[in-house]
Amino acid sequence: MELSQDVILECNNCGHQNIIDKKSFEVEEYSSERKMGPEIEWDFHGDFNCEQCGHLMECRIMGYEYPEGALNSWDKEVSGCVVLYKPSFVIDN
Ligand SMILES: [Zn+2]
Repeated sequence: MELSQDVILECNNCGHQNIIDKKSFEVEEYSSERKMGPEIEWDFHGDFNCEQCGHLMECRIMGYEYPEGALNSWDKEVSGCVVLYKPSFVIDN
């Protein structure tokens, strides 16, 4: 799974909307066994600094692939910023 679009993070400090290149997220993959096979959690994360004020923005976006090939759900954890717009994902098998 990959992020299919850049992510826009709004800085909590100054309100600037930072466009974060989807390729600047680090990706990790966790798998757990469930009834219909493995559920894969794709974890896109990174620490970024607001380009306007330098405020630290931490962002983690999780996409859950289950069953294989389908996006089941997604979630996010952020600190110092807000994720504008729902992230979109592509799954290529
Ligand atoms: Zn800022």
